[in-house]
Amino acid sequence: MTTLIASDEQRVNELCDQLLAEHDPKTTPAAEFLGAQFDLGLAWVHFPEGNGGLGLTPKLMNTINARVVGAGGPISYARNPIGYGMCAPTIVTHGSEAQKQRYLRPLFTGEEVWCQLFSEPGAGSDVASLAMRAVRDGDEWTLNGQKVWTTLAHVSAFGIVLARTNPDSVKHKGMTMFVVDMHAPGVEVRPLVQATGEAEFNEVYMTDVRIPDDERLGDVGEGWGVSLTTLMNERVSIGGQVAPRGGGIIALALRAWEKSARHGDAVARDQLARFWIEAEVARLTNMRASHTRAKGTPGPEGSVGKMAMAGLNQRLMAFVMELMGPDAMLYPSGYPMDRPTTAMDLSNPQKAFIRVQANSIEGGTTNIMKNILGERVLGLPGEPRADKDVPWSEVPRS
Ligand SMILES: Cc1cc2nc3c(=O)[nH]c(=O)nc-3n(C[C@H](O)[C@H](O)[C@H](O)COP(=O)(O)OP(=O)(O)OC[C@H]3O[C@@H](n4cnc5c(N)ncnc54)[C@H](O)[C@@H]3O)c2cc1C
Repeated sequence: MTTLIASDEQRVNELCDQLLAEHDPKTTPAAEFLGAQFDLGLAWVHFPEGNGGLGLTPKLMNTINARVVGAGGPISYARNPIGYGMCAPTIVTHGSEAQKQRYLRPLFTGEEVWCQLFSEPGAGSDVASLAMRAVRDGDEWTLNGQKVWTTLAHVSAFGIVLARTNPDSVKHKGMTMFVVDMHAPGVEVRPLVQATGEAEFNEVYMTDVRIPDDERLGDVGEGWGVSLTTLMNERVSIGGQVAPRGGGIIALALRAWEKSARHGDAVARDQLARFWIEAEVARLTNMRASHTRAKGTPGPEGSVGKMAMAGLNQRLMAFVMELMGPDAMLYPSGYPMDRPTTAMDLSNPQKAFIRVQANSIEGGTTNIMKNILGERVLGLPGEPRADKDVPWSEVPRS
């Protein structure tokens, strides 16, 4: 475990002072500010020096984010959530030095948005059953197949894509991860409209897409191990955010409470207080997890945060709808099919109520989180996995 020493915190605070003094966050364009933050090692403080980090404990990201947000600066996660939270840790762990130098900085600044191409129509919870094929051809690979639910693919410059390179291996062994140029010939992105009315995610079809072998992430056949880095970080990215006390989604409830006519209603007040406590417990649990986390990939504690956040968000937003009464039925912005440039817009409560329903699906369903916690934390017997030792090509599928 990486321990936090006072001088590390002091060093980070001094670098934040320098960043904010040299780049006024109120007047500096966001990409320029974030570029300077990257160069000072304050992008992912736990990444190595030269890759946007300082090799320190990730706990210090709380300090950096509080300083930057407090000064009115931009947050990389908001501009490029999949890139910042999932693709970058995968690149820094499994990428070549050339990939790290090429990709991490513009990813952090948001000049190049990234997406994650894992799920397929027949492979979601069981992503290791996926069918997209990658066939080697000299120094290149050719990809064919379909991905689905690909968040922000329509604005992405690059994606990380998991494909099957050996159909005759068992399913967890025959996959390989690549970086794909989302504007390469043969990549087709089609919108998928969500219940919110907008299309934040997509279907992505790949037809004879060529990827140089240099853009492989990790060894051939080791894509499952690489994807675990992405998935473990995804859970923390979705469920492990540490907002200021009273911030995050509970702030929506507090705003609705202030406007509501139910101030004198003791039952509603009691419910609100319970939600506030629950949100605070989740926030402190996430904070504790980030304090104890070593520099590398997060462990199963990410599943705790992800599962707790999904349930809390859904119950809390249902409560907000009750507080709003008939107004909750009105969708303030109309119901246009638009193409957002960032994920999970919670800007108005009606839309937020609908959007949080996806929280128990995206990044691994709540059922899957329970399986992980049962098996990996509580040590309960594993569920039967009948196809574990069978070559992928021989597993029956529809
Ligand atoms: C808003 C949103 C954004 C997303 N963004 C992306 C993205 O950017 N990239 C990407 O690759 N994917 C993305 N996904 C896909 C997401 O990862 C999958 O939807 C999720 O893993 C579930 O897979 P599935 O939809 O195929 O459901 P299935 O796996 O078919 O599951 C159906 C139901 O069966 C249950 N179930 C399945 N297996 C088990 C089991 N072993 N034990 C108990 N219950 C089980 C599930 O909990 C669920 O209730 C996104 C999804 C959403 C909703």
